[in-house]
Amino acid sequence: MYRVTLPLLRSAGPIAAPIPLTEDQARTKLSKGEFLLHGAALVFDHSAARELMLGLARNLEEVGLVAMSPIRSALEGDRLIPEELLGHVADGDYPSLAARAEEQALDPALLWTLAQSALKPTLRVWCGELAPLVHTAGEWEKACCFICGAPASLGELQGNEQAKHLRCGQCGADWLIRRLQCIYCGNEDTSLLGILYPEGRRENVRVEVCDKCHGYLKVVARFAPCSPEELAVEDLSTLYLDCLAQGRGYRRPQR
Ligand SMILES: [Zn+2]
Ligand SMILES: [Zn+2]
Repeated sequence: MYRVTLPLLRSAGPIAAPIPLTEDQARTKLSKGEFLLHGAALVFDHSAARELMLGLARNLEEVGLVAMSPIRSALEGDRLIPEELLGHVADGDYPSLAARAEEQALDPALLWTLAQSALKPTLRVWCGELAPLVHTAGEWEKACCFICGAPASLGELQGNEQAKHLRCGQCGADWLIRRLQCIYCGNEDTSLLGILYPEGRRENVRVEVCDKCHGYLKVVARFAPCSPEELAVEDLSTLYLDCLAQGRGYRRPQR
């Protein structure tokens, strides 16, 4: 899937207008605990959004994803409104998108994945524009992204000092957090925090678990941070860590 979608996503032009947020507005939002895109009016370019979703759908259909065929034809026949679907993804509103899919007998999970992929380049552009407006260190220690609200996909221990950062797989955002604390429930009791190391695998990866809320986070030690595109690959290439943690009863909160 990544082989046929990444080239298109990398060369995609903007499909939405910039988010008009001033530095003051951005700081106020963060101090209220709101992620920056929360409640923002998203203005999509209908034909650019339609072209990108269609391009992705056609490429996936060509490599044998036959379930994409009815979605592609619904987009071609203008029976789906791309900007509406992208808005649902930006809001993390799966039920609304699934309702649209089901009206037309389309696979909801596949339609969600398609719209989510199409939104990623735009989220990365918004992240590049919005992240410099705020200082997150000490201001944002949540497990969800301060730009787009998606759950962090990975933890990264960066640089010589191995500072712990969270990374968002949707928009690529990067924020510093405290090391000895559960990112989900704030638990600081070290007797309830643990680390799982996979046997016989890369030495720079591990899973941090919390016995209070049973959440887990995959953590990768890297000298330089992953690029936004590498994040998805890193997440997929460490699926064995998800198996390890889920096999012991821990879970990864979903949006
Ligand atoms: Zn994000
Ligand atoms: Zn916890």
